[in-house]
Amino acid sequence: MKAVCVYCGSSPGFRAEYAQGARDLGRALVERDMALVYGGGKVGLMGIVADSVLEHGGTAIGVIPDALMQKEVGHRGLTELHVVRNMHERKQMMADRADAFIAMPGGVGTFEELFETFTWLQLGYHDKPVGLLNVAGFYDRMVDFLSHAVDEGFLKRIHADLLHVGLTPDALLDQLAAAPRVTVDKWQQGREQA
Ligand code: AMP
Repeated sequence: MKAVCVYCGSSPGFRAEYAQGARDLGRALVERDMALVYGGGKVGLMGIVADSVLEHGGTAIGVIPDALMQKEVGHRGLTELHVVRNMHERKQMMADRADAFIAMPGGVGTFEELFETFTWLQLGYHDKPVGLLNVAGFYDRMVDFLSHAVDEGFLKRIHADLLHVGLTPDALLDQLAAAPRVTVDKWQQGREQA
């Protein structure tokens, strides 16, 4: 993996562990010679992970829509900052430039990005691994809820299991690096199991 797309909050969260997790992820990416691809902002965990990558001498690539340049304070110190026309272009470019995806703690923007990427994996639109960096157990309830969706017949276990979960950047990056690239065909597998 040469580049990892990180989705994360535009807020830092209340617990110090979240900011520390973002700093640790930035360092771990640089240690593995992987570039960061992210939303290009200076605020919240976004800014912290990017600053950590830069402080450790790594490559940080930001992709930000024009309209968010002011609100999310586009980070001017990045290796590359791409200002694009809208959210769709942003997400497309982030996805194209990355070999894997990680969601750190965040709010609905982060969830939306995570679930779009996860859905596209399930539909076979891409075959890149997707993981949750479960800092301080932030995503425990989401993991439980996905299991609930499996139990209630709305999600197949094989698809739920495509989402990697790690408590630390190193544990998660190890999982993503070892993950086989699988092209999923949700509907084909659904029919086979029916
Ligand atoms: P949040 O997790 O709510 O703090 O948002 C984190 C990032 O998600 C922000 O940088 C948003 O620009 C981004 N984002 C991506 N897609 C969306 C969307 N559809 N709605 C809101 N925010 C989004």
